[in-house]
Amino acid sequence: MILVEEALQHILGKIPRLGTERLGILQARGRVLAEEIFAPRNIPPWDNSAMDGYSVRWEDVQTATKERPAILKVLGDLPAGRIFRGRGGPREAVRIMTGAPLPEGFDTVVQVEDTEKDGDRVKIFSFPGKGKNIRLAGEDVKAGTRILEEGALLRPAHIGMLAAIQRSWVSVYQQPRVAILSTGDELLDIDEPWEEGKIVNSNSYSLASLVAECGGLPLQLGIAQDRSEDLSSKIQQGLVADLLVTSGGVSVGDYDLVKKMLDEMGQMNFWKVAMRPGQPLAFGMISGKPLFGLPGNPVSSMVSFEQFVRPSILKMSGHRDLFRPALTAILREDLSKKTGLVHFIRCSLLAQGGKVFASTTGEQGSGILSSMVKAQGLIVLPRDQTLARVGEEVTVILLDPSFFHLASPVFLS
Ligand code: AMP
Ligand code: MG
Repeated sequence: MILVEEALQHILGKIPRLGTERLGILQARGRVLAEEIFAPRNIPPWDNSAMDGYSVRWEDVQTATKERPAILKVLGDLPAGRIFRGRGGPREAVRIMTGAPLPEGFDTVVQVEDTEKDGDRVKIFSFPGKGKNIRLAGEDVKAGTRILEEGALLRPAHIGMLAAIQRSWVSVYQQPRVAILSTGDELLDIDEPWEEGKIVNSNSYSLASLVAECGGLPLQLGIAQDRSEDLSSKIQQGLVADLLVTSGGVSVGDYDLVKKMLDEMGQMNFWKVAMRPGQPLAFGMISGKPLFGLPGNPVSSMVSFEQFVRPSILKMSGHRDLFRPALTAILREDLSKKTGLVHFIRCSLLAQGGKVFASTTGEQGSGILSSMVKAQGLIVLPRDQTLARVGEEVTVILLDPSFFHLASPVFLS
């Protein structure tokens, strides 16, 4: 028996980070940055107006009021995108639009609402304060500073920042290609005619979706019969991928051909992990590629994927944060178990009054996929715990990211 954390530590120690590739910035969203990005110049590049109004010298307007306006000579009109070639002097102003570079000689902008044009003069009715309504050069980003760190997950704001410094491409970590193989003579694929005694291969599809959800590229190898030639040739095909995942054939008392084949093909560990569901797990390297042998039961394969394969795919993709968010929830029913195994219990969640409540999704058998469908999270009941009562706090691994939207609605009024 091996603990979940021991198995995970062993696995992550063997999982490499993949190489890098150059992508256009729009293709790079959701990927992990593989370089540091420095600002080649200030943003904004020059002091500019934050308002439509008049650029002035603060001394000329410091006593301006509605009753006793300051009257200034207007030297010109400055739309955004242009530069004013002159220089401001005493009792002078330039009409300026938002974003236009502040003409030399001025230090303050008065917004247009506090002014009145009068021929080639302007009346200024208030003093906003020295230096007001100006965005200073470099106030967002200073030239030469590091704006994005290696390892950053590229979100829309990051893409905007890259655009702001005129970077059209970036170096990111490659997306892992993950080959998926279901094993078992009893399996029938979704497009094959239904036959008595057969079981439809759902694992290839739930696993491929899990791969895609965490940013990998699934590669379907289909179904391997429990025959050595079929198994080995399909695994050989899968070696074009960066990582392989099989389901079935690793359980105790199984027709253990998968175990035998994997053992012959590479350096494999066959563990009993102290967890439920998902106790049997094979992990090793075949021709330099990591391979996970997950149990065949639909829930076991998904929960094992969550624990071991997902963090591995994230590590390969360059992520630093490898785990799902966890939250603390209050139990709505009693739970009991024996000591020895950590239990991952499928649960639905309810947000109420700033608290989150967890209820099990019913029958927890490792073949009950419908209870996985209902599950928004997995309650983690530690190995040595035998009982958790209604009202107690438990840790829940969040599977459904949209739960946060339900938990914290934002009301705009
Ligand atoms: P195994 O781990 O190979 O002993 O499989 C255990 C059970 O999981 C089998 O009896 C099937 O009921 C189920 N199973 C195995 N592979 C799949 C699959 N690809 N899709 C759905 N169910 C499966
Ligand atoms: Mg089997």
